[in-house]
Amino acid sequence: VRDQAGEESDWLVRSAEDEEALRQQIRKLGHEILAIEPYDFQEWLDRAAGEACKAVEARQRGDKIEFRSALWAELKQYLFFQFHGKCAYCESQCLHVTYGDVEHYRPKRQVSEAPDHPGYWWLAYVPTNLLPCCERCNRHRGKMNHFPVHDNAWARCPESLPEERPLLLHPGHDDPQGHFEWVPPLDPEAPISVVRGISEEGKTSIEIYNLNRGELPTIRGAALLQLQRDLGLAVANGTAGALYQKILSGETAYSAALAAEIESLLEELTGRWSRARSEDRPPSRMPPPIRDARSSAEKR
Ligand SMILES: [Zn+2]
Repeated sequence: VRDQAGEESDWLVRSAEDEEALRQQIRKLGHEILAIEPYDFQEWLDRAAGEACKAVEARQRGDKIEFRSALWAELKQYLFFQFHGKCAYCESQCLHVTYGDVEHYRPKRQVSEAPDHPGYWWLAYVPTNLLPCCERCNRHRGKMNHFPVHDNAWARCPESLPEERPLLLHPGHDDPQGHFEWVPPLDPEAPISVVRGISEEGKTSIEIYNLNRGELPTIRGAALLQLQRDLGLAVANGTAGALYQKILSGETAYSAALAAEIESLLEELTGRWSRARSEDRPPSRMPPPIRDARSSAEKR
């Protein structure tokens, strides 16, 4: 692809539909497509299997594993494309200001919460364990090598993974609804929207991913305020369906918070409507039917 500054780069992407859908998706991002070529993913998997074998050998010798980060970095563009250019954890659009990181959901090195756990080194090159994320979510006070699990029962080999119950939500598999609750912004001048955990997994994920850090609640709150305005316009213009689709597709920043906001607004509306309908009104306060009113005027 070539961007608006004329810089050319190779993108590894995948379209669920056909080539035309893929072209449209990339065009929407402002890039010009120079060529589309098929990619042999098996070739990457073979190289990953080779590196995984080296890791096993290093473990058997008692040596420190030398990970080949260039291998998972090759999938970075692909991972970000799958997440619509957003950080998998905080849902911020970040690629216009940073290169982004490829993060291991289950840490490849020693787990912070379990000093005697050597890390999930055997998952270092498994694509489903890789996530695209911003530097703030990955480094310093972010996810790092944290991986708390229920009952401190960490899997120590691939066979025991199915029994492990992580306390961190996986952005690609777990629905945050039912775990997170976003407080809607009250002050348009400082539109703060804090996220709160309503399950153990939600609370732990918010703390470890640091989802109320710095300016994040204000940026998220501004997106929620914008949604409230957009929703009013969309209902008036008859384009609410398209707006819902855009949010459900995940392409909008903070779409999980936006989807929850739409659901709570609709719930409030239907609740108010039902309450209004069920109220008993005295018959005298009902306006007279139009036909009756006209006929009485004609009589006069
Ligand atoms: Zn982030």
